[in-house]
Amino acid sequence: MTDVVENLERVKARIASAAANFGLPFKVKVPEIIAVSKTHEAAAILPLLKAGHRHFGENRVQEAEKKWPALKEKYPDIVLHLIGPLQSNKAKDALALFDVIHTIDRDSILDAMVKLAPTHQRFLVQINTGNEPQKAGATTEQAEDFITKAKQALNEKVCGLMCIPPADQNPAPHFGLLKLLAKAHGLPDLSMGMSGDYALAAAMGATYVRVGSAIFGERS
Ligand SMILES: *Cc1c(COP(=O)(O)O)cnc(C)c1O
Repeated sequence: MTDVVENLERVKARIASAAANFGLPFKVKVPEIIAVSKTHEAAAILPLLKAGHRHFGENRVQEAEKKWPALKEKYPDIVLHLIGPLQSNKAKDALALFDVIHTIDRDSILDAMVKLAPTHQRFLVQINTGNEPQKAGATTEQAEDFITKAKQALNEKVCGLMCIPPADQNPAPHFGLLKLLAKAHGLPDLSMGMSGDYALAAAMGATYVRVGSAIFGERS
């Protein structure tokens, strides 16, 4: 079995030295590490909770509903992040369980959230920086208008932007674009970087990295 706590420590260490490893002469802000536990059972998650880790990510509402209510009862300060696409008919369930939703990506989801009047939740707008047809997120063409709209609809509950760069491209320009867009709209949070590129994302100013397999091992 993989030692998830040891793996998390390794991720933290790589982030701590990320800026220096890229030759940058300054220290970067250390992002919050979201341990992406999709496909993994509570048994794999518990060691991290016992070690004090609190930020976790899931990409499906239904899967999350099976494991997280019990864990949240035991550890009430868990911060649960939804990082996968959201359907309007699951919006209510998502708000009941998740604290941060990274995947606001189109009008219908925005409308559903406004109607449900979220309380403590925070939202990030997903940008399809590679304009990939199979991927969710506002395209680079739609981004300006959609971010403006989201901020008008949900006000300060919109805290940042999220992206998943194309798998076959250098992620750096995508992270750079996300950062420029966030800055232009006064949004503080950047959700970018996964197991393959979280150190780069951290060096480029990510405030959240979403790390699955580097902590839990490969998904079957
Ligand atoms: C699964 C997933 C991750 C984590 O992926 P790893 O490569 O295993 O770290 C991050 N972000 C999103 C949106 C995901 O669906």
